[in-house]
Amino acid sequence: MNILITGGAGFIGSHLCEFLLNNGDKIICMDNFFTGRIRNIKHLEDNPNFKVIPHDITQPLRNVVKEHIDQIYNLACPASPVHYQFDPIETIKANTLGVINVLEFAKLNGSRVLQASTSEIYGDPEIHPQVETYRGNVNTLGPRACYDEGKRVAETLFMDYHRKYNLNIRIVRIFNTYGPRMAENDGRVISNFIVQALKNKDITVFGDGSQTRSFCYVKDLVQGLYNMMNQDYVGPVNLGNTNETTIIEIAKKITNYTKSSSKIIFNSLPEDDPKQRKPDISLAKEKLNWEPKINFEEGIKKTIEYFKSSLS
Ligand code: NAD
Ligand code: UDP
Repeated sequence: MNILITGGAGFIGSHLCEFLLNNGDKIICMDNFFTGRIRNIKHLEDNPNFKVIPHDITQPLRNVVKEHIDQIYNLACPASPVHYQFDPIETIKANTLGVINVLEFAKLNGSRVLQASTSEIYGDPEIHPQVETYRGNVNTLGPRACYDEGKRVAETLFMDYHRKYNLNIRIVRIFNTYGPRMAENDGRVISNFIVQALKNKDITVFGDGSQTRSFCYVKDLVQGLYNMMNQDYVGPVNLGNTNETTIIEIAKKITNYTKSSSKIIFNSLPEDDPKQRKPDISLAKEKLNWEPKINFEEGIKKTIEYFKSSLS
């Protein structure tokens, strides 16, 4: 199958490229390299089934992709709060203009197209754990809104193309994912804590560390994306690990696993930081026969090994 992955040089995208190449598919990796990196996909470059197209999805796709495309995974969007707030207008453009370009291209090609949505569409949730029927609690005016509202309108666009043009769509809501090839400077909690611990620098817990997240290892997530694409249910479906942990607990575990002499310090909590997050994955189990298999200890040790070998 010919598969287009937008955002394919990013953290999740590069693992998805690898997974699908191993499956025997032909992959076009499209990326504008805003947060993606050549080194994430360097090991795939010699594979004759792998092609890279540098392109920004806010520009039309039809003149840059000549092949017939069977499936599209739309991952093109900066994902960490530091990166998506760096240029909020570009983040909104990726999720509006960019998503329209991807959908138009899918319409032209008759491709099936999957949107990488996010748990952020639930905002600071009042329902716990979050089920797909929950409509969310997002501040439209806050610093996270460029991403949260962008991803919400992207879901709306996907549903409208589906209703109006009968486009073959899939929507997944991805919860916090971690693993090798996270960018060292993306400001996310797992990469920050590991880099700080390995350099014996202070570990920066924001707030009192009682806020929770549920972390999914990237290999599990990629399997979930694949299962979602290759079944009949449109979605949305939550993909994430249900193992909920406080941020202070994560700081302690990473200090421990890295045998670091770092101190834990407490900084102010960013505006609109969700207090709790945990997916209800009943739908993913039922429709995709999917649930995560890799526990936190195993996943975090692999991630620490990656940062040990890649840190400059
Ligand atoms: P990432 O920043 O590593 O990857 C995003 C990729 O998209 C990068 O390679 C970047 O260069 C590219 N990109 C950004 N804007 C683009 C544009 N306009 N045109 C072309 N390429 C563009 O992030 P990630 O963690 O790999 O996330 C991938 C997708 O999954 C994103 O859509 C994100 O919103 C979603 N997601 C991720 C998580 C997570 O925990 N990692 C959680 C929820 C949703
Ligand atoms: N966080 C933290 N220290 C850091 C980076 C993040 O305490 O150095 C906190 C952040 O405030 C949030 C949680 O960890 O409560 C997860 O943050 P991340 O940016 O990884 O993801 P998101 O907020 O998008 O879930």
